[in-house]
Amino acid sequence: MKVLICDPVAQSAVEGIKNIGLDVEVNDSISVDELMDVIGEYNAIVVRSRTKVRKPLIDKAENLKVIVRGGVGLDNIDVAYAESKGISVLNTPAASSASVAELAIGYLFALARRIPQTTASMRAGLWEKKKFKGTEIGGKILGVIGFGRIGQETAKRASALGMDVIAYDPYITADDGHVLVPLDELLAKSDYITLHVPHMESTHHIINAESIEKMKDGVRIINCARGGVVDEQALYEAIKSGKVAGAALDVFEKEPPEGSSLFELEEVLGSPHIGASTVEGQGRVGSEIVERLADFFKEV
Ligand code: NAD
Repeated sequence: MKVLICDPVAQSAVEGIKNIGLDVEVNDSISVDELMDVIGEYNAIVVRSRTKVRKPLIDKAENLKVIVRGGVGLDNIDVAYAESKGISVLNTPAASSASVAELAIGYLFALARRIPQTTASMRAGLWEKKKFKGTEIGGKILGVIGFGRIGQETAKRASALGMDVIAYDPYITADDGHVLVPLDELLAKSDYITLHVPHMESTHHIINAESIEKMKDGVRIINCARGGVVDEQALYEAIKSGKVAGAALDVFEKEPPEGSSLFELEEVLGSPHIGASTVEGQGRVGSEIVERLADFFKEV
């Protein structure tokens, strides 16, 4: 069985795939055009989020049996179309939860104490003690929108830090001691709001001008989920007006967010979609990719 790794994965994953007896090749910067020419040779491909597996590519994949996506979201793959052609699509959903949750927690502190801004000020040779009076996160209310794996990991950590956690998720019933509330209640009560939903029709712009209007003045918003769940223009306006005191964004409607006016604002913190990008998280993604392929080809 021939496997092509199309995006960067841990070296241990490459070794692991060899060890289960598959013939593996790595071309982790391959373009979709190049992939179109060679995909017919492979029985499995491994992708992260960079490689887009759309209909025209799937049409060329005559011998493909499985697509393994290292990570959670499947938005870079035409899953239903692949499955209609008899190609299985598998992912590694739990591997990066802790990494993303830790980034969200990091942003709570960064927003409360404005750590990136104090660093910039120090670099400029300043000593602005008065300007940087912060707030504590202990005792504050964290609203978690989307209470799945990452939402719950974030909630666990925030509770341990003394925050009161409330969550909105219409598909969850068992709330593990946290308080599930309607969305409007979460918007009205939260000091911090963190998003952990997939991007789909029902979550598109779940944070928009109207929902921001329902929030507390001075709320801070964290998005480590997907660009598109926050209306960036509405967020920009709300930060400019002072309604929203700060925002931290790991994901953007367009990545990279070239030309976005958000980064004109000092209150906006950001990172280049690195939620899952930790040594430990990538290692777990690698092991899960190997497990998925081993299980899949055992059954074929
Ligand atoms: P998950 O499936 O375990 O949890 C998602 C939760 O969202 C589910 O509980 C679901 O019921 C809930 N949900 C669905 N629609 C909703 C709605 N309209 N309102 C409220 N809740 C809704 O997924 P997860 O592993 O926790 O990942 C969450 C998201 O994080 C992923 O979809 C992915 O887009 C994103 N993610 C980002 C990074 C990153 O690098 N920043 C890495 C991994 C995942």
